Amino acid sequence: MKYISTRDNTKEYNFEQVFIKGLADDGGLYVPKTLKKFSAEELIKLKNLNYNALSTEIISLFSEDFISKEELSSLINKSYSTFREKEVVKISNVGEIKLLELFHGPTLAFKDVAMQLIGNLYEYYLSKNNKKINIVVATSGDTGAAAIDAIKGKSNLNIFVLHPNKRISSVQRKLMTTVEEKNVFNIAIDGNFDDCQNIVKQMFSDLKFSKSINMSGVNSINWARIIAQSVYYFYTYFKLNKESVSFSVPTGNFGDVFAGYISKKMGLPIDKFIVATNENDILYRAISKGDYISKKVKETISPSMDIQLASNFERLIYYINNSNSEITADIMKKIKENSYQIDKSSLEIIQKDFLSESCNKEETLSIIKKNYEENDKILDPHTAVGVGAAKKLSIKDCVVLSTAHPSKFPDAINLAINKSEKLPQELEYLLDKDENFEVLKNNTEEVKQFIKKRIK
Ligand SMILES: *Cc1c(COP(=O)(O)O)cnc(C)c1O
Repeated sequence: MKYISTRDNTKEYNFEQVFIKGLADDGGLYVPKTLKKFSAEELIKLKNLNYNALSTEIISLFSEDFISKEELSSLINKSYSTFREKEVVKISNVGEIKLLELFHGPTLAFKDVAMQLIGNLYEYYLSKNNKKINIVVATSGDTGAAAIDAIKGKSNLNIFVLHPNKRISSVQRKLMTTVEEKNVFNIAIDGNFDDCQNIVKQMFSDLKFSKSINMSGVNSINWARIIAQSVYYFYTYFKLNKESVSFSVPTGNFGDVFAGYISKKMGLPIDKFIVATNENDILYRAISKGDYISKKVKETISPSMDIQLASNFERLIYYINNSNSEITADIMKKIKENSYQIDKSSLEIIQKDFLSESCNKEETLSIIKKNYEENDKILDPHTAVGVGAAKKLSIKDCVVLSTAHPSKFPDAINLAINKSEKLPQELEYLLDKDENFEVLKNNTEEVKQFIKKRIK
């Protein structure tokens, strides 16, 4: 399969470039040049596959020139052997709602589903090509933990994770800082998540530095993450056995919900996607009114969705503009100037597939409380936003993506119901384990020095 950049579709790339680079040199995001569309007969053939076999069928369509189907299949089996659920994900009923539980991986959030595979794909590629890289990533909590778990102990890779000091939940921190493998480095920055992200961006754009350490990232724009996530939309559709399904997706960077949109483009009969946001509601304003204007990021009780400009939205812009990369590049310029209004005809196209709602703190807490009282089920605050958005829009046959285990966000749960959810037994050991991290100033040079010293 060939790929192009959303900002220049005249040049072609292969999966290796797409996977290793993440972002195109022109600043755009990679998308496949053409997408496979399954016929109804072809979909039926996929219907009874188990999760790993289904993953292999779907992901191999995108990665044939990088890894053989047999080797991919064995990496997928290895990746998902770390999950507490044999079928990786689980569909559960909570009152009238259906949840797609995606948090049964090692770090209790859906990001494990893609990241465990990415870690193994990296190791496969680097050992085959005798290369070494250093991954540097900023996290507001979940990405860093998922990336560390996926990369720890792998050969030819180090990982450096920057988190905002004292601004993530203690469970989120411990999932990162109790890891003992020698290729994992945790840095707590005296600042907020944006500061961490800025440091990483500055290090990437200092080409002398970033080349000298073979710096790489693992953020949610990587196409490999998107396609690994699209698998659970297929899986859920097949398991539910309905003519069509809608999904409500707690959204931050628009990666997870975009993965669903790709599965629809590949022929899966999905009706609507509900883009569920917290008070950082730019996507809600964009999708309901065309108003794509960013405001300052607010800290909420669903911190993994505290994002204003959702990177993956660029891919949607590309598709709704008939795969026109010139128009996409122009719109991205406007977005950079914070002056993009979605025109009426584009908005109509978006609204054929997407609806959106936003839930504030009180609404989110009351959803957690209500579901606990009525259904004896504790929802994490991100999932609660998804449930709240689906309720507000009263969509029939809607599956809510449950993106994190409630024990990962004890403060929010405590606020809602005055008690907390226990960690899964397999993870209880974390609580008394020694932590290891370095606190550094909000200063890019200091972080660079730290990294240089560690990789010598
Ligand atoms: C990352 C994350 C999200 C948001 O996913 P995006 O792909 O960024 O839209 C939602 N919930 C949880 C728990 C997350 O970790």
